[in-house]
Amino acid sequence: MFAFALNRRRRNLKCRCDLLPANARAIARANAQGFTINLSADTLDEADELSRLKVAPVVTVLPPGQTGLSVTNDERSVVICPATIEGAGVSCATCGICANPRRRSIIGFPAHGSGAEKVRKVFYLKPESV
Ligand code: SF4
Repeated sequence: MFAFALNRRRRNLKCRCDLLPANARAIARANAQGFTINLSADTLDEADELSRLKVAPVVTVLPPGQTGLSVTNDERSVVICPATIEGAGVSCATCGICANPRRRSIIGFPAHGSGAEKVRKVFYLKPESV
């Protein structure tokens, strides 16, 4: 499955897809050539998993209402997208952090709207043990 969101600067994409080796190579190549593709996670553990691949910067959804900095189990910082903070007056055009392919921080997007509670359930779901 592929889903892309193109930001206003048109310099970066957020990607949701099966990260097959060929996809990973193409994404890494695009990032190395200045067209930033972010990998998108549904949980902090998944964000750590994607970050460990060292293919691309990572974004994640967060539970609704979360406004503070988070840290993953692997001690990666999760910074809230400033455009989601009411009154911040920030947009992708003035921020642009998602377009930085060398970014170490994960960008977090608090869930909102009608699906926010469903996101909360998924976010706190414990992975099945093997
Ligand atoms: S972190 Fe910045 S660049 Fe990324 S989506 Fe939010 S406002 Fe846009």
